[in-house]
Amino acid sequence: MDPSRYLLKPGSRLVLEKLPTRDHFGMPQKAERVAATEALSQEIGHLQQLLYATQHHRLLVVLQGMDTSGKDGTIRSVFAGVAPLGVRAVNFRAPSEEERARDYLWRIHQHVPRTGEIVLFNRSPYEDVLVVRVQGLVSAKECVQRYHHIREFERMLVETGTTLVKIFLHISKDEQRERLQARIDNPAKHWKLMPSDLEARRQWADYMEAYEDALRETSTPQAPWHVIPADSKTTRNLIVATLLRDCLAGLSMNAPQPTTDLSGLIIA
Ligand code: AMP
Ligand code: MG
Repeated sequence: MDPSRYLLKPGSRLVLEKLPTRDHFGMPQKAERVAATEALSQEIGHLQQLLYATQHHRLLVVLQGMDTSGKDGTIRSVFAGVAPLGVRAVNFRAPSEEERARDYLWRIHQHVPRTGEIVLFNRSPYEDVLVVRVQGLVSAKECVQRYHHIREFERMLVETGTTLVKIFLHISKDEQRERLQARIDNPAKHWKLMPSDLEARRQWADYMEAYEDALRETSTPQAPWHVIPADSKTTRNLIVATLLRDCLAGLSMNAPQPTTDLSGLIIA
């Protein structure tokens, strides 16, 4: 199966309600999806080693989605086969006072990947045109300016050698109700639930509108968005794993040649 079917083509219209939140990506059996994802994750692990060894490329993965859409779970599953040293995940929460005293990209830029590195953004500067817009902290006009900033920031990253993969985990409002309820019904999961999550759910329609504008305005040829159906956790993991494996394999990396000929060398 080809994950490019989930690509948001630059310049195209976007009505999230019309895009699927449920799919099986050609694998109707859950066990099959789990096994395929595990194999892909191992492949990603090998490709990560090549990425590090060749010291030529940088990979930045941006994950966005409503609460409970599975950003953490996706990272856990898709990168299970990657050595902990091989990947760096960065979680962006509400900015601190130090961060708010700067422009909103300041805290982002310092976390972009260095050469040979994979970085995962769990939330991103997109919160600065999503949650802040829904909460009325920035105007629609400021958001239009910010789409422009973000497009140009991403263009700069890509033009200076970063590969950018942007993923929106698309869940339905019904699926979110079930996942939030499951958190409420299980005291061990209460720590995951913030009062603001329930407030955000009440503003679901506003969030969808903010997402539609943000994704449409920032899906560019060099850094397009993928809208991934995420009501099924196993399908979501399978699609994201396929997407990232394909992306890394597309870099056509080969292990670097040793600087000295080691063949036949015997260690004393
Ligand atoms: P969590 O992902 O559960 O750790 O929650 C992080 C929280 O931080 C979410 O409620 C986000 O909406 C919030 N957040 C992240 N970035 C920003 C931002 N730039 N401005 C305001 N809130 C943010
Ligand atoms: Mg949360």
